[in-house]
Amino acid sequence: MPDQYDVVVVGSVNADLVVGVDRRPAPGETVLGSDLATHPGGKGANQAVAAARLGGRVGIVGRIGDDGHGALLRGALAGAGVDLAHLAVTPGPTGVALITVGPDGDNSIIVSPGANARLTPDDVAAARDMIAAAAVVTFQLEVPMPAIEAAARAAASAGARVVLNLSPTAPVPAEVLALCDPLVVNEHEAAWLLGGPGEPERMARALLRSGPRSAVITLGADGVVVADAEATATIPSPKVEAVDTTGAGDAFTAALCLRLARGDALPDAARYATRVGAAAVRKPGAQTSYPTPGDLPD
Ligand code: ATP
Repeated sequence: MPDQYDVVVVGSVNADLVVGVDRRPAPGETVLGSDLATHPGGKGANQAVAAARLGGRVGIVGRIGDDGHGALLRGALAGAGVDLAHLAVTPGPTGVALITVGPDGDNSIIVSPGANARLTPDDVAAARDMIAAAAVVTFQLEVPMPAIEAAARAAASAGARVVLNLSPTAPVPAEVLALCDPLVVNEHEAAWLLGGPGEPERMARALLRSGPRSAVITLGADGVVVADAEATATIPSPKVEAVDTTGAGDAFTAALCLRLARGDALPDAARYATRVGAAAVRKPGAQTSYPTPGDLPD
């Protein structure tokens, strides 16, 4: 059976509520901030939108609430062309990220998972046809681990390639880690997994010894390290003027998944994904910054 989807994302869908502040309030204090901006976000939705904007056939398995944020997020995913057949609606609030941006552009974020916390193995079972029709199934850690475990098992038994973006950091069962091809992390997440920082290529090989079939460490402007049983390589990022790095990691992972789905070897997929990550930092926001193939730097 030909793959009907390049990438199926099992993941979070959040509204990002952003307010600029001169300084953060101390406990018991109130400060005035800028006008509220509401943007579609959540690592799962970001990756689905990024892969669809690059021309991928993409589905999402997730949960939104029955509130206005849910409607906004559904609209953003639909607008990018993501298949929403398994985006379920839960009574109650959609996930939100409460983001304050300080004067230096520094973010402080509280995530309220809302409907994302109610994604279950039953939701994954209901989506098994979609998962079985995917070349690549990808997850992040903003939805409950039982749903991720179920999805990893369903993907592997259907012959789909499993990609885990271990973000935010949380313990992952060895059985899930062993299916990852690759495990994708940034430098901080790699250091968390390994118990401390180190030289990136050494860290990638150490990650490989911890169980996944291949490992990718993103290094911001410095590019990415990829490691599998055959080789370890550092791939530089294109030089661009960075305006806002929000969501760059999600754009990178989405592009990596799409190229793997289309048959690229891991280093080739990573090289393409650095171009997509670099394009995403040239514009403000997460989903608003995601490129089409025509927008990519060389
Ligand atoms: P975020 O949390 O901001 O979404 P992240 O920490 O998960 O990102 P990074 O390693 O910062 O991930 O970035 C992911 C990829 O995006 C990098 O591997 C690179 O390809 C691209 N990228 C990020 N920042 C820059 C930059 N300043 N210039 C060029 N490319 C960048």
